[in-house]
Order: sequence, then C-alpha cells, then structure tokens
Amino acid sequence: MPAQPPPVAVEEPGPDLTGPLSWQKLENIESWLDTAQSQRTPEFRIELELQLHEGRVTFAQRDAERANVPHDALRVRLEAARDGFRSLLARNTLMPGQTARAQIGLRASESLLATLTKPTATKPALIVVDRSRWGALSPVPSRLTPLKGQWSRITLHHSAEESSDGKGGSVEDSAHTLRLIQKFHMETGHTWGDIGYHFLIDSGGRIFEGRELKWQGAHAGGKDGSNNTQNIGICMLGDFLRRPPTPAALKSLELLVADLRARFPIAANRLFAHTEFTGSECPGPFLIDWVKKHR
Ligand SMILES: [Zn+2]
Repeated sequence: MPAQPPPVAVEEPGPDLTGPLSWQKLENIESWLDTAQSQRTPEFRIELELQLHEGRVTFAQRDAERANVPHDALRVRLEAARDGFRSLLARNTLMPGQTARAQIGLRASESLLATLTKPTATKPALIVVDRSRWGALSPVPSRLTPLKGQWSRITLHHSAEESSDGKGGSVEDSAHTLRLIQKFHMETGHTWGDIGYHFLIDSGGRIFEGRELKWQGAHAGGKDGSNNTQNIGICMLGDFLRRPPTPAALKSLELLVADLRARFPIAANRLFAHTEFTGSECPGPFLIDWVKKHR
C-alpha cells in the first residue's frame, strides 16, 4: 500500500479569484485583505493588493469612457487606487515586476484623476423638487416605455401657457401648474402614463422632477414616438414666444443640462429644441438660440 502524504494544515480559504474581473471579485479581495490570514502571507497579500487597485483603475477607465458615473464617485475610487499603489511602492518589498505594475497603475490613476471635473463642493448643488412635493399622480406603468440603453440626447420645450409662468410665484403655484400639465397629459388631452417631460423649470429657477428617468418621455413626437427614444425632455414653464425666461430659470437650465451631461453619455451636439423635430414654434426664439449656443 503506498504511503499516504502527510496531513496538510487546514488553512482558511483565500479569496475567490475565479472568472473575469468583476466588482464581486474586488470585494472578495478587499474582505480577504482584512483577515488575519492575509497578514501571514505577505507575498500573496502584495499580489492581491495590486490586483485590487488595478481592478479599480480598469473599472474607473471604463466608467469614464461611458460617462455613466458622476465624477465625484469616480474620484473617490481612483484616489483609493492611487493611495494603494503609493503605499505598495513605499514598502520596498515588491518584486521588480510588481514594482513596475504599481508604477504603471499609479500613473494611470493620477492621469485619469487629472481629467475629472473639480469636486462638487465648489459647484452649486442641484436641488430637484421631487414628485411627492408637487402632488404628482402615480404613473401608469402599462402605458409607459422603459428606457432602452442610455440617455443620449436632451430636448427643450416651453409650456406655452402664460398662466403657468407664475413669475416670482411660490412653489405651490408651480406645483399647481405641474398638476394641470400632468392631468392634461394623462387624462384630458392625452392618455399617456405620466407627465411627458422628465424635468420642468419655473421662473424662480426651481427644478421639478417630472417623469422618472427609468421611463422614456412623451414630448418630441415622431413615428410611434420614436423621437422620444433616449431623449430627456425638459420644459420651461411659461410662454417664451415673445420674451425670454428669467435669468434664474436659465441658470437652472444650464446647471441641469450640465448635470445630465455629466451623468449620461450625451454628446455636446445632442441638445435640441422641440421645433427641430416637429417644426412647431416650441420653445420660442430665445430658447432656440440658447440651445444652439450650448451645443
Ligand atoms: Zn415642445
């Protein structure tokens, strides 16, 4: 009978590293690095720290290209990777190949960080009045189309009602106007599943949440509503055929468009005025010029 190999000391399992790079894999590495076992195997620990930080940089590069993560969030992830590479390089216990990887990773995280916009602390916060605040009716999901893919364009409208202007009016005045628009879109004028626009801005510069961004809008027409595909609808409350919106409303519009461009892959030239789809007068000459200047 062949001799049995000597019994091996049972170790706690290491992190699951099977399969392609994934957030799950990075989380497995992170929790393993917190264990006592990782302290007893310093060479393996260095290798896994490298993989963790390299993974963070890879994901950040991918998300930066897709423009689907706010820069503030990307910044936090990249700073963690950068500090991790720095700490590895400071230890002087890396193999030459590992030193090279850490240097490459450090440079990649630093150069990507330099391309991100400044932290939000220096920007005015974007405050959006949510649906419950204006008394929105519940949406009817069976009459709505879920967003397919990513938001890729923005279209500007005006509500074309002098009565909805409410210049300097209270949030209640504008909330009342929004309820009327929603009722018109869902009951009296159309049978849509919700208010057609995703955002509405009043003369005081308040930004209201309209249709939730998980649904396509109903605002730009086209065959079977095709112009609404991946198209965020913004409506300026008021009639702007003969006068411009207030400076406060325009400032909020600028902030909202910038915020949406930072969150979604919307190219600079994919900002439109309603009239470009339908030939209507909407949103009036001043806002049509505004759109042309901002793309
Ligand atoms: Zn319009």
